[in-house]
Amino acid sequence: MTGEFPRHSGASRKKTSAPGPGQESRGVFNCVTLNLPRVPARVSEALVLRTYPLKEADLIVSFLTRDQGKLRGVAKRARRPKSSFGAGLERLSHVRMAYFQRETRELVNLDSCELIRSQFDLVSDYRAGVALDYFAEVADQLLPAAEPGERFFRLLLAVLDYLRPAGGDDPAAAPLSGRVWRAVTYFSLWAVRLSGWLPELHVCLGCGSLLDEPEPGEKPERAFFQRGRAGLLCSHCRHAMAAGSSWELSAESRNTAAEMLRRPVAQLSQTDWVQTTAADLRRFLVQQIESHVERKLVTARLLEESEG
Ligand SMILES: [Zn+2]
Repeated sequence: MTGEFPRHSGASRKKTSAPGPGQESRGVFNCVTLNLPRVPARVSEALVLRTYPLKEADLIVSFLTRDQGKLRGVAKRARRPKSSFGAGLERLSHVRMAYFQRETRELVNLDSCELIRSQFDLVSDYRAGVALDYFAEVADQLLPAAEPGERFFRLLLAVLDYLRPAGGDDPAAAPLSGRVWRAVTYFSLWAVRLSGWLPELHVCLGCGSLLDEPEPGEKPERAFFQRGRAGLLCSHCRHAMAAGSSWELSAESRNTAAEMLRRPVAQLSQTDWVQTTAADLRRFLVQQIESHVERKLVTARLLEESEG
């Protein structure tokens, strides 16, 4: 797999830095007497993926940092009023997270977070809210822990930016529901690609024949996929290897996928997206993700059911 996730202009690429020594003098950080290995407090630009209640007032937070990959940490007293986290721990909040890592522990200790941008303005739309749930679920399930890699972080920022076009009420912008389907499809494709599992979409997995270069005078080869199979089949191999249901991935959707691998989400040629646009491609990608994480994605079904 080669190719860079397309750059986009929206995100700040400011370097974050650790707080100075004066900021480490608070009690919680003062563990010298416990003789634990110390790692200085760190501040990372991050997107909050999920939170889970812990004890009476605490939260476990899964978050994706720009520089350290996906981390999990404990936010003490985060469920108390006036906590130092405020609204920063909402799903997909874009924050600067201050935390403290110990070499011996899987969980980091969250100190505080500063909100860069919340997603409150998007969740008033039910479908957009489910799309955010889907982004968070896929990222949380798919990404390995503590493995630095900035591209998935930039992918999330890109689809969030796209859902909220500059100007907000620009009448020329595509309707939000169309943007949701486009963003979800784009995100799914790149999530699979960045994980290294995207198969060739123009070659039959069974016989190796090309799926989109018809002989002169012939129709283009049709392509099919099955749950649990990591690629596409031509119609001949589909019959020969038939076991369980299969779905067709249209030539149109394969072209859409090829374009998505070359262009930013805001610059795709098709602009009038509805739920049926590339729905076969989404089904294929969700099946690929589900095969690899070995569970069903709760939000994928909710999303497809959100129409109508
Ligand atoms: Zn074949």
